Amino acid sequence: MNSPDDILASLLTLLEKELQKFTIDLWFSDAKAVALRQDCFIIRTSPYKKEVILARFRDVCRKVLFQIFSTEMDLVVLTDGDELPEPAPAVSAPEAMEYTFENFIVGNSNKFAHAAAYAVAMNPANSYNPLFIYGGSGLGKTHLMKAISETIRSSHPDYHILYMTSEDFTNELIEALKYKSTEEFRSKYRAVDVLLVDDIQFLAGKVQTQEEFFHTFNTLYAAHKQIVLTSDRPPKEIYTLQTRLQTRFEMGLLADIQPPDFETRVAILQKKCERFRLTLPDHLVSYIANNATANIRQLEGIVNHIHADLDLTGGEVDMNMVERAIRDLQMGSGKKPASELIIEEVCKYYNISPDRLCSKNQSQDVVLPRQVASYIMQQLTDLSLQSIGKELGGQHHTTIINSTKKIKNEMRTNPALASAVKDLMTNLSEQEDGQSF
Ligand code: ADP
Ligand code: MG
Repeated sequence: MNSPDDILASLLTLLEKELQKFTIDLWFSDAKAVALRQDCFIIRTSPYKKEVILARFRDVCRKVLFQIFSTEMDLVVLTDGDELPEPAPAVSAPEAMEYTFENFIVGNSNKFAHAAAYAVAMNPANSYNPLFIYGGSGLGKTHLMKAISETIRSSHPDYHILYMTSEDFTNELIEALKYKSTEEFRSKYRAVDVLLVDDIQFLAGKVQTQEEFFHTFNTLYAAHKQIVLTSDRPPKEIYTLQTRLQTRFEMGLLADIQPPDFETRVAILQKKCERFRLTLPDHLVSYIANNATANIRQLEGIVNHIHADLDLTGGEVDMNMVERAIRDLQMGSGKKPASELIIEEVCKYYNISPDRLCSKNQSQDVVLPRQVASYIMQQLTDLSLQSIGKELGGQHHTTIINSTKKIKNEMRTNPALASAVKDLMTNLSEQEDGQSF
């Protein structure tokens, strides 16, 4: 699927940014693609060209391969008589090892999403495409996604699998636009067999990124490549998502994950305790399962906390220790987003620089985003009007009051603005939530 020929073609296209066209033609025109390995790309050419390529172009090829695969890849050049090198044994990061189907506890709340993910892992591009998994924070979306990716990686070592968050996608695109290298950006995705994009809700409101993602999606979909997406809400609730993207996302299978029920919470606690060889008496397990109901990340946090507490203090697990763990973790949640984050997100949304947003510039394309930022800061932070004014480049506090009023009023009559503000606020709260555990 991800044929070596395609990769060689992408490599040569991308090299055009780095080398003169005639140089590439001279040294690479009769190179043949041989194979793609976990850690290298192998080509074959004449003995003389091999020497020159390795001496002069190996580094630049590695750089370009990195752009294609987002991971260190070497260029191996063979010539007549050279043997194909043995594949390197696959090594996976320890973290990736943990996010397996085996470690995923199935209960009523997640069995549908689990079954869908498993089907896709067993039969990529031939079961559900795209697979769209949605549900609240800490319920196992990323876990399932990585389990899919690891399973396919071991059954199809030749596949090029790309896991990323939608923020990674956005940031890469911004970089590409800055350096005018959108063609490179696109080539990278053309070589992918399985694309997994986590937390797609952060595409909300990012017009240009959605545009590019639409293009990527269509290219891969048409080429019969597997796409897996996750989000904290179903596509139709990502308010500022282009309708055509929403339609694409709903084309395959939508699978939701609900918060775990009591039995699942108990099972998860037992499994996590097992990992630490931690024995918790049943009544304490039930106590935790009754008091930490929000999500699985929270349950995990509580077990980690107890484990660390035991390490420090020794002794037995008792009710005090359990209560402390629950309390500490619940206090940690509900943190407020920092004003810089709000400014950053608003700027990304409206495609202006923070410097302009926080200036005295009064043109309409800056004033509206500034008003939106001051409205959101009022809603989501504890900052005083004066501090908000300061954060926004020294606005008077009466200006902040007026801005907020104006946005409030306008949202009533302008659904596009209301959606934008809603998405921005949901994304901001979600980002903070993700970091607090
Ligand atoms: P999300 O991406 O939905 O926010 P994650 O996949 O990051 O959630 O899950 C949060 C934590 O909970 C991870 O450490 C994950 O391994 C664990 N987890 C989630 N669901 C399960 C499950 N069903 N069984 C075991 N562990 C789970
Ligand atoms: Mg996640």
